[in-house]
Amino acid sequence: MAEISKDVVIIGAGPAGLGAALYSARDRFDTVVLDKFVPGGQINLTDRIENYPAIGQISGPDMIDAMVKQVTSFDAEIKNNSEVETIIRRDDGLLEVHTDEEVYLAKVIILTPGSEYRKLGVEGEEKFRQAGAGVSYCGTCDAPFFRDKHVISIGGGNVAVEDTLHLAKFCKKVTMVHRRQEFRATPILVEELIEEAKKGIIEIRYDSVVTSINGSNKVESATLQNVKTQDSEILDCDGVFIFVGMNPNTKFLNGIVDLDESGFIQCDPRYLRTSVPGIFVAGDCRVGAAMQLVTAIADGVVAALSLKEYLRDPGWWRS
Ligand SMILES: Cc1cc2nc3c(=O)[nH]c(=O)nc-3n(C[C@H](O)[C@H](O)[C@H](O)COP(=O)(O)OP(=O)(O)OC[C@H]3O[C@@H](n4cnc5c(N)ncnc54)[C@H](O)[C@@H]3O)c2cc1C
Repeated sequence: MAEISKDVVIIGAGPAGLGAALYSARDRFDTVVLDKFVPGGQINLTDRIENYPAIGQISGPDMIDAMVKQVTSFDAEIKNNSEVETIIRRDDGLLEVHTDEEVYLAKVIILTPGSEYRKLGVEGEEKFRQAGAGVSYCGTCDAPFFRDKHVISIGGGNVAVEDTLHLAKFCKKVTMVHRRQEFRATPILVEELIEEAKKGIIEIRYDSVVTSINGSNKVESATLQNVKTQDSEILDCDGVFIFVGMNPNTKFLNGIVDLDESGFIQCDPRYLRTSVPGIFVAGDCRVGAAMQLVTAIADGVVAALSLKEYLRDPGWWRS
């Protein structure tokens, strides 16, 4: 296979990848963005974004269309259906990026393959998987859409507790469903949750799971089961928030860069350098990511600015 030489290869055309491409291409670096599907990533799945500064409301696809137009106007190339399978760092410091059809030879790589919300795997979850239809995975993103409604939140970790507290600022009632008696979240958060629950908006259902999400066009109820007694009940609600973790899309990296125990890419937070010289990371796939649109884009920008330091002096990597 012939090698295609590029200054910068960006892996993933989600918000982080497109943010990186904008800066890299405007800096006149020959830039390609590879995506295993089409541009957009997770934000394509929502029709309402309300927390992007200065934009009142926009759909994910509309925002991505605008980003793609802007990025390609500066001559960045975006390649759809190009899933990256392997990366090899050569002895001369150049980086090979292999898709099933092509090999790119890059001076710099920016990894932006994102993450996926872990699914509950119950009936109704896929059907209503949009805040507008009632299933959400992000309290920070979608809580305002459930003002004065009754929602169910599911999970027992830090994100579940924090986002349940956030939901309680908007909703008239939040029923938190947790499959155990003890939370995994840090004690200080759990104390805050218990205190808030005393005020009446949050109700905690311990030892319970959601077994299905029900409704015709929108979520209307959820079926809960007590794991100890096996008793089931149908609870009317307007939405279900699922907080059971995230899976980073980093399996293809296969030991090339250091990952944490959950598979997120290790990096230094200032320049977003990974463990391998020339390979930067940005967005939801990195350790410590805020998992938001604006922070993913900002990460891409930081990585694209940092790469200039490396190209000027590769020794900078260790500094
Ligand atoms: C339904 C929903 C609603 C949301 N709403 C909001 C909101 O209102 N506000 C907000 O701030 N955030 C929101 N988010 C979160 C936001 O979408 C993410 O934080 C953001 O998309 C992360 O961007 P990213 O580029 O890091 O990753 P992603 O968006 O996950 O993009 C990663 C891209 O990499 C590609 N890719 C993965 N592996 C490979 C590979 N091996 N080779 C090539 N390409 C690959 C994927 O196809 C994907 O296009 C929402 C998320 C969802 C799911």
